Amino acid sequence: MKVLKFGGTSVGSAERLQNLVKIINDGQKKIIVLSAISGTTNKLSEISNLVKKNDITQAMSKAIELESLYLDISKKLLKTDEFINKAVNFIKNIFTEINNHIQLNFSNEIKNVILSKGELLSTNLFHFLLQEHKIENIIIPALSFMKTCKNYEPDLEYIKENLNNEIKNLKNSNLYITQGFICLNDEGAISNLGRGGSDYSASLIAEALQTDEVEIWTDIDGFHNNDPRFVDDTFVIKKLSFEEAAELAYFGAKILHPASIRPCQRSNINVRLKNTLNPSAYGTIISKEYVNTGIKAVAAKDNITIIKIKSTHMLMAHGFLMKIFAVFAHFKTSIDMIATSEVSVSVTIDNFTYLNEIVHELKSFSSVKINNNQSIICVVGDFRSDQKGVVNKIFTTLQEIPIRMISYGGNKFNISLCVDSIYKTSTLQYLNNLVIDEFNRTNNLITCNNEK
Ligand code: ADP
Ligand code: ASP
Ligand code: MG
Repeated sequence: MKVLKFGGTSVGSAERLQNLVKIINDGQKKIIVLSAISGTTNKLSEISNLVKKNDITQAMSKAIELESLYLDISKKLLKTDEFINKAVNFIKNIFTEINNHIQLNFSNEIKNVILSKGELLSTNLFHFLLQEHKIENIIIPALSFMKTCKNYEPDLEYIKENLNNEIKNLKNSNLYITQGFICLNDEGAISNLGRGGSDYSASLIAEALQTDEVEIWTDIDGFHNNDPRFVDDTFVIKKLSFEEAAELAYFGAKILHPASIRPCQRSNINVRLKNTLNPSAYGTIISKEYVNTGIKAVAAKDNITIIKIKSTHMLMAHGFLMKIFAVFAHFKTSIDMIATSEVSVSVTIDNFTYLNEIVHELKSFSSVKINNNQSIICVVGDFRSDQKGVVNKIFTTLQEIPIRMISYGGNKFNISLCVDSIYKTSTLQYLNNLVIDEFNRTNNLITCNNEK
């Protein structure tokens, strides 16, 4: 069994959904994980924000707009009255539920129910399309097996047991379809795995079923060496190791959800990135194999805050770091980067939910300064300690950029820098030029410069 995940653009219109039929209909057993049609989760999120502001009229009118978009798509997608009627009824039921929720008092539960409708719509429309083509397929509701624990981490045992049971109890089929992104939380309420979470759903499913491979189908030919939205002349990297891909995804490479590599890494399941708009392109394969090509790729994560904590004592007393970490642990806020000096420590965070509380606690034993609007730039490559000169190359390349923090030596694949976000694009571009030089120097075989 294989897992294939198709993202928002891949299911983004009637034509795109029809195109998927060609990609998946090869007679091999597979489980297909779908995102919502592109733009839908954003619209659902806008609706729920309007509910939060108690602007019920606007929320209703946005929902009507979205409903009519779906009615149009279903009429373009399906050919027969039988299936058009099925789809129209399904869409109307979904939007009746959305409208009912719009009229309730706002809560996180209401928001999550509204957000869950996008994946329910795309999977059911695709199910009807396949049925109309007489291709047997079965929907496995994600809410019957995908679940998180109290700490918001996936409940791996529950997922494994329930997904395997679902498949055992359902009629045998070559094609199963399920929703990405959505799950139940520890209290059994509808929740989700975070924005872009369908990648994570796919890799958790692959792990639960111990499949050979996961294919992540998206709108680009594979993992690029740098963010193509901000940098010119990026190119596809054919091979990445789990560690490299996980670092890049965690530090902002939007092509993969930050946590999506870990389940595959744990279970040694290869991840293949493919382009729905260009299926014959090789893409990227992410596996345990490590190919050494010097400095390989760069990613950036925005909305970072630096917290500079200065001990009120002259020298850094032992236990100072422990006291700082205890504050962040208490407020369940993870630290991405850390730099220490004799009496001060700088850390970065990207979750501000408890920033005020954290600062308040820290101030009881130190002085605190905050810098918002920072970006972490993550450079992935071969940074083993015997690789002389590689760090020098990075900093020479970035001599025009004021760097706020540096993290080196945490592992041998990554150097992270923190810069003010106004320097993000130029930092990425400088580093891209360096990566291109490195690739030319090492004459590597893992890129496809002609594919974009
Ligand atoms: P999907 O809807 O299929 O999940 P996403 O929009 O989440 O697709 O991810 C694909 C997009 O990620 C690409 O179109 C590209 O703009 C962006 N992206 C950012 N960094 C990279 C990178 N290093 N390599 C490839 N794409 C990247
Ligand atoms: N539909 C969700 C989102 O837009 C999940 C996903 O696309 O992966 O975030
Ligand atoms: Mg995505």
